[in-house]
Amino acid sequence: NKAIAVMTSGGDAQGMNSNVRAIVRTALFKGCKAFVVMEGYEGLVRGGPEYIKEFSWEDVRGWNAEGGTNIGTARCLEFRQREGRLLGALHLIEAGVDALIVCGGDGSLTGADLFRSEWPSLIQELQETGKITQEQHTRYKHLNICGTVGSIDNDMSTTDATIGAYSALDRICQAIDYVEATANSHSRAFVVEVMGRNCGWLALLAGIATSADYIFIPEKPASDGDWQKQMCDIVAKHRARGKRTTIVIVAEGAISADLTPISPSDVHKVLVDKLGLDTRITTLGHVQRGGTAVAYDRILATLQGVEAVNAVLESDADTPSPLIAVNENKITRKPLVESVRLTKSVADAIKAKDFKKAMALRDTEFIE
Ligand code: ADP
Repeated sequence: NKAIAVMTSGGDAQGMNSNVRAIVRTALFKGCKAFVVMEGYEGLVRGGPEYIKEFSWEDVRGWNAEGGTNIGTARCLEFRQREGRLLGALHLIEAGVDALIVCGGDGSLTGADLFRSEWPSLIQELQETGKITQEQHTRYKHLNICGTVGSIDNDMSTTDATIGAYSALDRICQAIDYVEATANSHSRAFVVEVMGRNCGWLALLAGIATSADYIFIPEKPASDGDWQKQMCDIVAKHRARGKRTTIVIVAEGAISADLTPISPSDVHKVLVDKLGLDTRITTLGHVQRGGTAVAYDRILATLQGVEAVNAVLESDADTPSPLIAVNENKITRKPLVESVRLTKSVADAIKAKDFKKAMALRDTEFIE
């Protein structure tokens, strides 16, 4: 019987607890042992029963209704070095773990695949230095890895939705509704900054859902080079029709047509100077990651957790590590390495200011 471990890593996202719960319970249901690795890769590097814990059915009771991640997450510099990964391999073998499911963003999944590809040389070294026995070397000769994507940004290529994205979107919409009420009272303008790193999904969808006046996203630099004029014309038109509120959403990575970053204070200045609007800035910050998951994320994380366990049980040394995705409402498996590579090339194209390429890559959603 296999022992399957799960960890959450990188930035937290609502729904991670549902994913862990589903993985633990599916593993147990299938007659496997279930483990959790506490504090992301930090827990692998530290090892021992405090960090690599065996879990029972009851240990995840009620987790669907809890926000954040109860098994902790961290950014771990040591795991980026071979020494750290060597310790990780030793600690997994000491705990008797055969398969690792990582719920995280592209960084975490890159680390997971690197760990898998290095595994044979890691265990070779562990055996040569007498840290593991010949029997352990034979028994743990391959590490099965599977990725589920936990990220509020919805920034992973090859999947339509990441675990947490719809919860964060819901938080943003609620917050903008709150702001809208007070904006209406005072006839004010609000510039709302939202998260998303290189990805404008949260800003774009929140813009549609809250009927914002104008949005700034990384993928489409503010149009004709004169965003100031375009935004003011639109806002002035809405105001002329009697609208008492103005909402402008600025994504974290927003840029102008000359490719310089656009900050909420840049937008604030234009609304004040050109339109004379009483304008405030609201940075939503970690409220977006907070609270419990919306039903969609709980369901997505549960279905993907079940599929992740199926995937590791069906994989062997020759199977490329899978990433559990969702495409057109169906839970699917994608090659993890390809998905991460595509995601990174989108981010690189945006950083290199090659938006045409970024958009073309982002459209390459399906890898068969
Ligand atoms: P996210 O998973 O949300 O993208 P990070 O990029 O911060 O978050 O990655 C989380 C952790 O994953 C890092 O702190 C590190 O321990 C591990 N990691 C990320 N990239 C690599 C890599 N190239 N090699 C090894 N480990 C990595």
